Amino acid sequence: MRVMAQMAMVMNLDKCIGCHTCSVTCKQAWTNRSGVEYVWFNNVETRPGQGYPRRYEDQERWRGGWALGRRGRLKLKGGGRLRKLLTIFSNPKLPGLDDYYEPWTYDYDNLTSAPLQEHTPVAPPRSLISGEPTKITWSANWDDNLGGAPDHGHKDPLLKDIADKVTFEFEQTFMFYLPRICEHCLNPSCAASCPSGAIYKRSEDGIVLVDQDRCRGWRMCVSGCPYKKIYFNHRTGKAEKCTFCFPRIEVGIPTVCAETCVGRLRYIGLVLYDADRVLEAASTPDDHDLYEAQRQVFLDPHDPAVVREAGRAGIPGDWIEAAQRSPVYALINTYRVALPLHPEYRTMPMVWYIPPLSPVVDIVRDTGHEAEDHGNLFAAIEALRIPVEYLAQLFTAGDPEPVSAVLRRLAAMRSYMRDVNLGREPQEAIAKKVG
Ligand code: SF4
Ligand code: SF4
Repeated sequence: MRVMAQMAMVMNLDKCIGCHTCSVTCKQAWTNRSGVEYVWFNNVETRPGQGYPRRYEDQERWRGGWALGRRGRLKLKGGGRLRKLLTIFSNPKLPGLDDYYEPWTYDYDNLTSAPLQEHTPVAPPRSLISGEPTKITWSANWDDNLGGAPDHGHKDPLLKDIADKVTFEFEQTFMFYLPRICEHCLNPSCAASCPSGAIYKRSEDGIVLVDQDRCRGWRMCVSGCPYKKIYFNHRTGKAEKCTFCFPRIEVGIPTVCAETCVGRLRYIGLVLYDADRVLEAASTPDDHDLYEAQRQVFLDPHDPAVVREAGRAGIPGDWIEAAQRSPVYALINTYRVALPLHPEYRTMPMVWYIPPLSPVVDIVRDTGHEAEDHGNLFAAIEALRIPVEYLAQLFTAGDPEPVSAVLRRLAAMRSYMRDVNLGREPQEAIAKKVG
């Protein structure tokens, strides 16, 4: 066993209201600069939807080009233009500005300076890049307007695919929000794909960072990251990414997104894991076994053998105590209610999610029972509005069983707490289910 420590996060999706406070405060802190106007280290996606950048989950889109691994590194002295050309030829499959969105501001002057006209003046959008009026054709959360509505003839293959896969009676449309940051993966493909060796994973807490002095702007990390969580700063010519707010973490303050989250849904903390098991878990042959394999890489911070090995590995005692207090291990391994995003990407993501249980009103409508009423608990799960298959595509490589198990556990917890709060004796079966 080789014990290492990692900063990790669990987000409870039932609590996200899509207010974007996390995105805005992160932007103010980290990407409120020229060259990264289009960049959101933290974004909140509408689901079902195309995500940000658009269709990033369609991994076939990013395949191709040369794989310039570190061994194949080209040494170019002062080769700015040559490097740019080589990047274009060797790595053509990068998201374009249209896939992110053209950042804009509003022409507020127009509100006061517009000539007298029939209608109230509006502040028209103006491109932050060209300064010209912009015709916006795509932006983050554009999918809100679609609301998951059925469009089997949609021109966009992904939207058509979603429409074909998910049950779409109009009253059965569904949506929820998926906040995303860099996953600070245990097996980061961004680092593996960087020809300059500029991306590194800090050994003390696993935070993945870009060394700005070493980055040569190849952008292999942009195509190499399956979550598309590395961005190119077109002013500096360097790659940038979420830093897990390491200067704050180092002085014991949570990340900006976690501290400002209106729904209080982000749980952050240290986890201990067995570094010897990482590659084996990432290479699990069957995609359906990946969730379980990734879960088992985490070590119980209360286990005396783990504590002993952690001490031998030089992890300070107060860090071990922090891992013991952290809710992350408990949510993933003890209560087993959190799942990784796209485990089939095999980078071993370190931001996990508690899947959304569903709008309660729907359970009431479909079963005639309140969601927390244990009398009809499992029927309620069957009547969930968000199809388990859809959640399984996100969290368990398409295997519905682990997702159903999590949802049953969440419903049981709700039911249990309802009894406790009403001063009733919790039903024995539910108490057992909650553990
Ligand atoms: Fe690298 Fe992407 Fe993983 Fe972040 S999510 S560590 S950028 S591979
Ligand atoms: Fe969701 Fe919290 Fe972000 Fe609001 S601040 S969008 S509730 S994650």
